[in-house]
Amino acid sequence: MLEEGKLIKEEDLPYEGVRGIPHIREAGNAVRRRTGDWRIFRPEIDRERCVKCKMCFLMCPDSAVSWKEGPEIDYFVCKGCLICASVCPVKAIKVVRDEGPDRR
Ligand code: SF4
Ligand code: SF4
Repeated sequence: MLEEGKLIKEEDLPYEGVRGIPHIREAGNAVRRRTGDWRIFRPEIDRERCVKCKMCFLMCPDSAVSWKEGPEIDYFVCKGCLICASVCPVKAIKVVRDEGPDRR
């Protein structure tokens, strides 16, 4: 069982046989993986345009969008698939090249 809130390290992943492909079976583990490293483009929310429909929150495949007063993107987890931008009904999510200093 993986510990709540702990980042998964490669050495913690169980390997199956000689094929050596790691399998993570525990549900809800996506928020603990550093998939932000994969990102080439990043989604940025335009708060003036956002109508708080929650589509980005519901459709993000990696649970990178949380909900407080509105949507918040966790760039540690966000892999830049841009599904959120494509489902936003009011085009409130801009797509920008990710070259910033906080790129992780
Ligand atoms: S680009 Fe959007 S949908 Fe894709 S992982 Fe990041 S927040 Fe989630
Ligand atoms: S999908 Fe667009 S309008 Fe809806 S909550 Fe997300 S950013 Fe806001």
